[in-house]
Amino acid sequence: MIKETKCLKCDKWQPTNGESAARCVFCDAFLHPDKRMRDLENRKREKSKPFFTVIYRNDQWYVKIYKWVFNVVQLVFVSIISFIVWLATLLAG
Ligand SMILES: [Zn+2]
Repeated sequence: MIKETKCLKCDKWQPTNGESAARCVFCDAFLHPDKRMRDLENRKREKSKPFFTVIYRNDQWYVKIYKWVFNVVQLVFVSIISFIVWLATLLAG
């Protein structure tokens, strides 16, 4: 269903798909600036997140063990997936 959105800058109504990156066809302003900011922030947060769980020096010993085990399991899982992808690529020729 096509929704109509009013541009915040030029006050003209226009159809929109609700995407955060949607721009006004008349003045090129973002139609959902708040949504766009949230999207950008989420993307930034995802990018800055390290691949492994960070083990802090002042973590409790059981937290350290839990994080270490989690990291090892994650590494093994990624290794298996990579191997399957490699094997599939090899078999496909
Ligand atoms: Zn506009």
